[in-house]
Amino acid sequence: MDAERAIARRLTYAYIAGLALIAILSGAVHVLLNNVIVAQGDSATVINVAGRQRMLSQRIGLLATDLHAGDATARQPLLDAVTLMERSEKALMQGGDLGIRHELSPSAHRFYLEGATPLDFAVRQFVLDARRFAQPLPGGDVEAAYRRLQAAARTTLLPNLNQAVSIFEDEANRRIEWLRTAQKVVLITLLITLSLEAIFIFRPLVDRVRRYAASLYELATRDSLTGLANRRHFMDVGNRELLLASRSGRPLSVAMLDLDHFKSVNDTYGHAVGDLVLKRFASLALATLRSSDIVGRIGGEEFALILREMSPFDASAVAEKLRVAAAADRSEGLPVFTVSIGISVANANDRSLDDVLRRADKALYAAKVEGRNRVAVALDD
Ligand code: GH3
Ligand code: MG
Ligand code: MG
Repeated sequence: MDAERAIARRLTYAYIAGLALIAILSGAVHVLLNNVIVAQGDSATVINVAGRQRMLSQRIGLLATDLHAGDATARQPLLDAVTLMERSEKALMQGGDLGIRHELSPSAHRFYLEGATPLDFAVRQFVLDARRFAQPLPGGDVEAAYRRLQAAARTTLLPNLNQAVSIFEDEANRRIEWLRTAQKVVLITLLITLSLEAIFIFRPLVDRVRRYAASLYELATRDSLTGLANRRHFMDVGNRELLLASRSGRPLSVAMLDLDHFKSVNDTYGHAVGDLVLKRFASLALATLRSSDIVGRIGGEEFALILREMSPFDASAVAEKLRVAAAADRSEGLPVFTVSIGISVANANDRSLDDVLRRADKALYAAKVEGRNRVAVALDD
């Protein structure tokens, strides 16, 4: 029993541990997804700003051309574009503005800030030249600034800004790839955990519950000494059979059996031997009857039979067989014992099995009075 309890406790712990693992994995997936969604949002912003830098460089180039050709209305838009490009560049490098929350990733850092001609330097140079051109300082070389910014807008800046956008896009794609892999790993782990739970926890748990339910059923319906149906179960089954018989119109016989002078068996050989006789009689009854017949131990040394589809004539033949088997039994260590049997058949007036058993009991009494070790059939009343 203690071992049983220990196993049950172990299974419960394992079950809880499995559930906890699933809960942790689910929580981890939630956090992971959340982070990835946030990171993807950030990536989208960065890609957007980097793409706008590309557009701004071209716009600045065009506006500068207009201003250079004498169109003064181009000045203010040019300055606005320069300011936005400056601000965007700063946000890309340091974060904290324009919806960009983080600094550059290592690969973007390499591209923007390291090497012979870092992009950040080129952009700053470009906006500086644009400003020098749009807002000339006394003594500044406006023409030189104009030439430099046009050269940069047309040649170096555009491909480099393009590449910056691709770097940010690649980073976003790599993150999605990583997410896919993580998702697969988590899914497989979940499936494995669930399968292990099913095999090693649920199945044994269900088996145990089923066995326990079966043993409870046995306890509730069986007599512990003989293994026959106990009184309550016998009455349940018998009443059901009575109902079926009255519906189908087929005969149903019952028998009441009482071992003869059992008190003296106990007195002479002891209670333990008396118990063995009861067990022996139960197995004789089971061996004599058809499997569809029902045997119950309904009292101390009293038994009863439900004999389906049997007329009183058939029933007395069966009862006689059992009576002879008991009287002829010579099991080692057991005294000779006999049984008296009363038989009745169900009729249309019987409301419950009790009514039929009452008549069988009267017949049994008659068998006792007539000298015991015999079968008597109830007269219809
Ligand atoms: P008869 O039925 O032939 O009139 O005589 P009897 O001696 O069998 O009469 P009675 O029915 O009064 O006695 C039944 C006895 O069965 C009394 C009791 O000690 C015994 N008995 C009842 N239950 C058990 C049991 O579970 N084990 C044993 N060993 N004896 C039991
Ligand atoms: Mg009795
Ligand atoms: Mg008796």
